Amino acid sequence: MMEKKMYIGGQWVHSVTEKTSNVTNPATEEVIGVVPSASREDAAIAIDAANEVFESWSKTTASERCNYLFKTSELLIERADEIAEILTLEQGKPFAEAKGEVLFAAEYFRLYSEEAKRIYGETIPAPTPNKRLLVIRQPIGVVAAITPWNFPALMIARKIGPALAAGCPVVVKPAEQTPLTAIAIFEAFEKAGFPAGVVNLVTGKGSRLGPEFLENQKVKKITFTGSTEVGKYLAKGSADQMKRISLELGGHAPFIVFEDADLDKAVEACIISKFRNAGQTCICSNRIYVQDSIMKAFSDKLAERVQSLKLGNGFEKGVDIGPLIDRNALEKVQEHVEDALNKGAKLVTGGSVWNRDGLAGSFFAPTILTNVDDSMLICHEETFGPVAPLLSFSTEEEVIKKANNSSYGLASYVFTRDLGKAFRVSENLEYGMVGVNDPLPTVAQSLFIGWKESGLGYEGGKYGMDQYLELKYISMVLND
Ligand code: NAP
Repeated sequence: MMEKKMYIGGQWVHSVTEKTSNVTNPATEEVIGVVPSASREDAAIAIDAANEVFESWSKTTASERCNYLFKTSELLIERADEIAEILTLEQGKPFAEAKGEVLFAAEYFRLYSEEAKRIYGETIPAPTPNKRLLVIRQPIGVVAAITPWNFPALMIARKIGPALAAGCPVVVKPAEQTPLTAIAIFEAFEKAGFPAGVVNLVTGKGSRLGPEFLENQKVKKITFTGSTEVGKYLAKGSADQMKRISLELGGHAPFIVFEDADLDKAVEACIISKFRNAGQTCICSNRIYVQDSIMKAFSDKLAERVQSLKLGNGFEKGVDIGPLIDRNALEKVQEHVEDALNKGAKLVTGGSVWNRDGLAGSFFAPTILTNVDDSMLICHEETFGPVAPLLSFSTEEEVIKKANNSSYGLASYVFTRDLGKAFRVSENLEYGMVGVNDPLPTVAQSLFIGWKESGLGYEGGKYGMDQYLELKYISMVLND
């Protein structure tokens, strides 16, 4: 049982209300931890702490900020096993995936330790000889970061790595289901020696703390990853103060397999893209379009592979798929599968709640559906579970049209050996990211971006820095 506090102004503290909330292991439904349930007042105190240190933090040298971030990265690598255990306990993903996530978070901190040194400006040729025109980049101010439960370490790193590198102090609010991983990352910040107030953590309900982030004038920027619904609420709310905002929201990725693709590699890629994190990633494939000539071969091979996946507690050896985050998630997946079956889909494998030996835990068996069509919920809403709906198509034009028929525009995937087709389809997909023969396009040094209702702004690589820096134009007339 872990009893933890939140981190404000360089101190580990309880909520001023002394209220707490429990953290549950989704594989066993046992309570594994207790954390403060922050009030608006706690959030305001954290914002004050960040605001007080803004001036001094923004004036540190790039090398100083680099050192703190680099040290954090090293500490996460050192403690990777321990943090991954916490992550698996509260989130459910298999331990190997959890460790991979912690190391990936460390990579983001390392990348942004380097980017801190590259906050370049520009000089612009002036229209008259006695003028000098400059554009410089300066930190925005206090950043509030709201993160989801599906990547509790990675999402924090991808947001506050660049914020800290840019010279912004931060207040982080992790998802209610996964505060313990966030606390472990803050233990690393403390050990890395960040000055008091630069990094702050409030654990508590988003619906309670969100309004404080929106209404408090000291918060200059909100960065959010989560559902499109909450993202829209934050976008509307931030308009009052013209608060800067970055949103990474839901997705509904098409995964397109052409008949000339390497079938075995496409099947393996589908397993990774669809079943990683039990299907609970925003870039998971949601609609798997297979050219009709290879539908049978693809679906047979995929079924064989899916049946070999081992479901269970993330700490068990060889487990590929852990539980869903909670019962609500389980109900949503069930609803999507039932809706599809009622409308004529065919169940190839899986399809039900998996309850080995009557154990508790929100497990859903990895599932494949064929005969899927556009009338089904699964084709429009994020399922966020281990369900692969297969849809057939005959031509390139047809599949592009079908794939683009979504209000989401995050990730998309294309499998083909034809270079011309790879370029044409990539360029015609209305999605921020395209993986060509690549089920894992996300890397620290590159861009992560959602189009349409999948987001506003972007993260990752050198691009991520832009979100925490304001441009300033200086026009100077020189004295004779
Ligand atoms: P969610 O319900 O939107 O929650 C995400 C975060 O927002 C949590 O910390 C939550 O706090 C907080 N929140 C909830 N209501 C709020 C409010 N009124 N004001 C401020 N914050 C609020 O999303 P989720 O179900 O946890 O996460 C899954 C979603 O995230 C999926 O749609 C997925 O596609 C998306 N996602 C997107 C990306 C991306 O980069 N595009 C990456 C990962 C996930 P509580 O926990 O207290 O409710």
